[in-house]
Amino acid sequence: MGRVDVIPVNLGARSYRILVGAGALSCIGPELSALGVGRRAILVSDRGILALHGDAVRASLTGAGFEVAEFLVPEGEAAKQLRVAERAWDAFVAARLDRTGTVVALGGGAVGDVAGFAAATYMRGVNFVQVPTTLLGQVDASSGGKTAIDHPTAKNLIGAFHQPRLVVVDTATLRTLPDRDYRSGLAEVIKHGIVLDPDYFADLERNIAPLLARDEATLARVVAGSCRIKGAVVERDETDGDMRNVLNYGHTIGHAVEAATGYARWTHGEAVALGIAAEARIATRLGVASGDTEARQVSLLAAAGLPVKGSDAAPAAVLDALGRDKKAKNGRVPIVLAPEIGKFRVVFDVPPAAIVAALEEVA
Ligand code: NAD
Repeated sequence: MGRVDVIPVNLGARSYRILVGAGALSCIGPELSALGVGRRAILVSDRGILALHGDAVRASLTGAGFEVAEFLVPEGEAAKQLRVAERAWDAFVAARLDRTGTVVALGGGAVGDVAGFAAATYMRGVNFVQVPTTLLGQVDASSGGKTAIDHPTAKNLIGAFHQPRLVVVDTATLRTLPDRDYRSGLAEVIKHGIVLDPDYFADLERNIAPLLARDEATLARVVAGSCRIKGAVVERDETDGDMRNVLNYGHTIGHAVEAATGYARWTHGEAVALGIAAEARIATRLGVASGDTEARQVSLLAAAGLPVKGSDAAPAAVLDALGRDKKAKNGRVPIVLAPEIGKFRVVFDVPPAAIVAALEEVA
């Protein structure tokens, strides 16, 4: 195992550590044991991920004296359904998980969301460990405590805040991630730099080639950097008040583009890239940011192989989807803008005409 970075997330009684490094899966058992939890754990994953990375997790847990049961969920978004959560509760009961038991989620954001939701609700909340295996999961979904399942009418509509006790990010698991999923995760990485950390952004600009090649040292540094940025935001705003809004950069329009294209044309990360391109355009049009700030964002996204034009979404359909955004207050949707790299501003009164013009320019 190489170097493991330890990133603390300080939330009083709900504090936890994020461990990041190639080979970190082997730390799970000893780290969990040190938290003084009970001996029973249940590993929640999908069949493909379990085949790739399950052995290492199981070995670490059993080596530390845990009794490990397993529960398989369907692959991808199909896992985030009430009937899957119900079957998870059944599996927890069958594994005789009590209040001291631990649910260990091994997989992407979808596995983490449904396993976390089941852990949040079983016995009013049991220990939960996130072991994210996608780039999006590692830099975003696994820390912060948001758990959810989907409702037939909307994604993530049913959920709970339930912080993990531990997050173990093994960057070596990303070697098996398909290219499109990997690049999609880079949209969140780039977002963190744009709105929160100019040095991190500059590092990405300089090292996009080794990052795309999944060079081990680059990956570990970049993923740890993103976990640190996300952790700091969560510390300041645990339950999604105003500060956490900053993480929605690119997402307001990105989500609307996803909805307007029927959730089929783009992955989430690709839609976020298009959303960032549009929101950067809006900032330039409104005189909030310089053209250079916009150009740096667009160049880095494009260098990462992400779409910055050709959204295939009709501006009217995007505006319509924006109108139904759950973050709207009194009918107005907040849009995060980046006045310069490393800074952000939440704006409630972006004129619809400026949104349409920007959308036409990235259409
Ligand atoms: P995902 O969980 O759907 O996984 C994508 C695919 O990658 C799946 O087929 C999975 O089996 C496969 N996979 C995972 N790890 C792999 C690996 N190492 N090697 C090979 N294949 C692997 O996708 P995602 O992008 O990780 O997560 C998306 C979900 O995350 C969405 O449901 C979204 O709502 C949620 N999310 C949650 C939060 C949060 O804060 N809770 C934040 C962002 C996104």
